[in-house]
Amino acid sequence: MSYVAPLKDMQFVLHELTELKTVQQLPGCEEATDDTVQAVLEEAARFLGEVVAPLNRVSDTHPAQWKDGAVTTSPGFRDAFKAFVEAGWQGLQHPAEFGGQGMPKVVSAPFLEMLQSASLSFALCPLLTDGAIEALLVAGSDEQKATYLPSLIDGRWTGTMNLTEAQAGSDLSQVRTRAVPQFDGTYRLTGEKIFITYGDHDLADNIIHLVLARTPGAPEGVKGISLFIVPKFIAGAGGARGARNDVVCASIEHKLGIHGSPTCVLVYGSDKGEVGPGAIGYLIGEENRGLESMFVMMNAARFQVGMQGIAVGERAYQRAVAYARERVQSRAVEGSKGPVTIIHHPDVRRLLMTMRAHVEAARALAYVAASYQDIAHHHADEVVRRKHQSAYEYLVPLVKGWSTEMSIDVASAGVQVHGGMGFIEEAGAAQYYRDARILTIYEGTTAIQANDLVGRKTARDGGAVAQQFIVQMQATAAELAEYDGDFAEISARLFAAANACATVVKFVVDQYKTDIRAVFAGSVPYLKLAGLTYGGWQLARAALAARRMLEEGCDPDFAKAKIATARFFADHVLATAPALAHSIVAGSAGTLALTEQQF
Ligand SMILES: Cc1cc2nc3c(=O)[nH]c(=O)nc-3n(C[C@H](O)[C@H](O)[C@H](O)COP(=O)(O)OP(=O)(O)OC[C@H]3O[C@@H](n4cnc5c(N)ncnc54)[C@H](O)[C@@H]3O)c2cc1C
Repeated sequence: MSYVAPLKDMQFVLHELTELKTVQQLPGCEEATDDTVQAVLEEAARFLGEVVAPLNRVSDTHPAQWKDGAVTTSPGFRDAFKAFVEAGWQGLQHPAEFGGQGMPKVVSAPFLEMLQSASLSFALCPLLTDGAIEALLVAGSDEQKATYLPSLIDGRWTGTMNLTEAQAGSDLSQVRTRAVPQFDGTYRLTGEKIFITYGDHDLADNIIHLVLARTPGAPEGVKGISLFIVPKFIAGAGGARGARNDVVCASIEHKLGIHGSPTCVLVYGSDKGEVGPGAIGYLIGEENRGLESMFVMMNAARFQVGMQGIAVGERAYQRAVAYARERVQSRAVEGSKGPVTIIHHPDVRRLLMTMRAHVEAARALAYVAASYQDIAHHHADEVVRRKHQSAYEYLVPLVKGWSTEMSIDVASAGVQVHGGMGFIEEAGAAQYYRDARILTIYEGTTAIQANDLVGRKTARDGGAVAQQFIVQMQATAAELAEYDGDFAEISARLFAAANACATVVKFVVDQYKTDIRAVFAGSVPYLKLAGLTYGGWQLARAALAARRMLEEGCDPDFAKAKIATARFFADHVLATAPALAHSIVAGSAGTLALTEQQF
């Protein structure tokens, strides 16, 4: 079975839950009319379902190959990428000024989800290119923008992100790659980067590496890191390809999942290019301010990795439902003439609802966050821009951290639905589980996202943004409380979860200066608590929207399923929030009790 984009749910989220209507009025976003959005998403669903999704399995069994310094991608990737570029998909969310289509982020979010669902391995190449484009848009000089952006946005060239070195993973202060200034204003780079996604491949004419490195005499730590553009081929006028730069792919990794995505060791300055020793690099922004620019790229990539979690979860869910409808096993607990399809069994229902509810919650949260980002970029009023920017920034670690953590559980539930076949590669469920496993690691592990949530996003503003969200959640819970049945139940669980968040935010803010180890011992549980509460909040809003649909007699089947999904999430997931809050506030005693020797 291949992938069918959940267009109906995507449209529901866009129109009922996000700020799409506001975004459509903003300068620069006028073209994103309802008709255009529908046409874009329908065409994306067709293209990705037909051209990219069928390659997902092939790329798992036929990984990217390395030979003599060059990478050959999985069978079918080259043709599919060519078609992707020709259709202009790389430019969907990028400015028209440089050849893109200028669609707002809230419209590109469902597109990105479909792209990732079709194939995580394939989609990583455009994902990294998007990040490079964002970084150049924010921090590049006019000349750099003119040289690189048109070719990146039209997809002829691709981008990479070069942070990691053997001794510098989560801790980028340890980056050692050297960049020595030259008389002509360029730099020469030497060093070795590891784990570079699509660091080499055969899909595009050129690869534009964005590389973190240190200049001679730079201060120690993150304050001495600069960001450079290092093209595989020196860029000529009008997108022409010049001399081969001194950067080579020394090998690729053999991985647990995402086999179609080449993960490269890149050596800068091996004297194998056509430019003499040292890779030629061009400084972005100022020396020693590289991490700030790289953060732009990382935030764009973090959001997209969160979308990857949702995407792989959706695909795992679709496969599990299909299997559960076909597999006949055991009589029904209430009695039946013979064995029934397993979708009949209450526990299989629980597994499927767990998958569905998590994916829908994470999807809604991510799309809502994307619409905040559009308002932050395009709104005329600076106060409104700032408010939405800080709301968006609070949500990024949740979209990245929570959506990816949940995707592993969702993919695991998908394996469970398949029983023994889930463990057998041919069934396909195992691939989603293996592929999902990287998502909580790259682009900053979940712990790094949680550190960001605790430090920059909560303690720094005294919990102000978090508190604003909590007030909004309480208002939704109060609205739900006006009705009985499912709505009253969802309301009660949402109130309790919002209160749990309030308790934890206060704990983080109060203890940050007095008992910082206790706060960080609860950082990932805080991220999970916030993720599930904010996701549950969106499903609660979805239940209210579905209620309106029912009143209008509009699509009752869909609306009832929305309410039931929100109710499920409330009883099974939101209900855990008070317990999680306890673990965070009281849990450090056990977490930190042992000495290193006692382990
Ligand atoms: C398939 C793949 C693709 C990748 N693609 C890229 C890429 O394109 N570009 C790139 O630059 N890098 C890339 N990476 C690297 C990736 O971003 C790093 O692996 C990741 O940031 C973690 O670094 P590390 O592996 O050194 O782990 P470490 O930093 O050694 O972490 C080990 C453990 O310690 C924990 N830890 C570390 N520091 C802290 C802390 N301060 N607080 C709490 N816990 C902490 C981590 O959470 C983790 O559990 C890729 C990696 C893989 C496997």
